[in-house]
Amino acid sequence: MALIVQKFGGTSMGSIDRIKQVAGRVIKEKQNNNDVVVVVSAMNGETNRLLDLATKMGGKYDDIETDMIISSGEQVSSGLLSIALRNEGYDAVPLLGHQVKITTDESHGKARISAIDDHNIRTGLKSGKIVVIAGFQGIDSKGFITTLGRGGSDTTAVAVAAAIKADRCDIYTDVDGVYTADPQVVPDAGRLDVVYFDEMIEMSSLGAKVLQIRSVEFAMKYKVNLFVKSTFAEGPGTQIKFLGDEENMEELQVSSVAYDKTEAKISIRGIPDKPGIAAKIFSKISDANIVVDMIIQNISVHGLTDLTFTVSKKDLKNAIDITNGVAKELNAEEVISDDKIAKISVIGVGMRNHYGTASTMFSVLSKENINIMMISTSEIKISCIIDAKYAELATRILHEAFNLGKK
Ligand code: ADP
Ligand code: ASP
Ligand code: MG
Repeated sequence: MALIVQKFGGTSMGSIDRIKQVAGRVIKEKQNNNDVVVVVSAMNGETNRLLDLATKMGGKYDDIETDMIISSGEQVSSGLLSIALRNEGYDAVPLLGHQVKITTDESHGKARISAIDDHNIRTGLKSGKIVVIAGFQGIDSKGFITTLGRGGSDTTAVAVAAAIKADRCDIYTDVDGVYTADPQVVPDAGRLDVVYFDEMIEMSSLGAKVLQIRSVEFAMKYKVNLFVKSTFAEGPGTQIKFLGDEENMEELQVSSVAYDKTEAKISIRGIPDKPGIAAKIFSKISDANIVVDMIIQNISVHGLTDLTFTVSKKDLKNAIDITNGVAKELNAEEVISDDKIAKISVIGVGMRNHYGTASTMFSVLSKENINIMMISTSEIKISCIIDAKYAELATRILHEAFNLGKK
């Protein structure tokens, strides 16, 4: 007998019929004599609908009230799945985040889990029931509902799996595993049997939304046995695991391509090229809890230079206001921004052992006349900022250039 956490995403929970199908998957695991804890997302599109209502009323993404509103989709779907299970003769215990209880910090809209009490989960399991937890939500120290950032039910599932020391955490979604690129964009993309944690962290942070990045960080930290599988088809799925000594890295160069259209860039032009300027700009940005991703500084001409950096689109307005304030103090020439950019990335642990990945990437992009605005690299990834309109094209041509197509 094993202890399994299963997580079902929005498409999987998207209709009454699909929830019945999900119940079937849960029951199958239970019939295999396992203890099962299920984490569910809101029905497909529901979180967007709720967020839209909150926004129309004037709510902001990081408001207490907005979290109250957008967390309700998961309440509905956990109730619906529990009824579906009962209809099939399997009793379930539906639990909201605060009933579990999943404690988080107070950063509404992107809260971090600080603790999970396993008592109510264990009590439910001990009575032979299936525990069904509403994903995406927690409670802060003041008793307010928080949400964990878009895609956050993945993180609920992995964090719960870590807290109860589950034997496995299966993330069920609308694709049958992690692919060499988003299969909706690259028809030739193939399923990967294995993705290494280092790669999955990069993929998630560079736009492959199949797993929320924090879920991967949790799984890595607590050594959760993590799989991505399809709700609608049988199959082995993809295992996310640690890179062992036995792996042969010689053949692999790049294992996947990802793109991200959620960032925007800001340039501050004509600032003095002297110590302390970058510190001045970025300390003000970070004081506003805005995360800066890429940064480049031009060479200086007549003692002046330009600085360009990227932030999430949802922080753009705030970041521009702050940068305008600093620009005034520094007597800068101008502040300009562009939200029609995409970050395109190639990822693979094998890049450590290969030369020429960057030059291949740059020449593939240049052949299509795609201009590179910014570049950032690490041992296992190269990212370029390009015009957003080329994101899908760039993904496809890089996928082909690195021979990632289905065998
Ligand atoms: P869920 O609602 O189940 O959480 P998501 O929509 O969050 O599902 O994530 C699954 C989607 O992620 C897929 O439909 C696919 O389009 C997208 N995706 C992007 N990159 C990848 C990738 N490399 N492998 C698999 N899916 C990917
Ligand atoms: N329902 C939330 C969202 O749409 C959480 C999730 O699906 O994981 O972001
Ligand atoms: Mg998701």
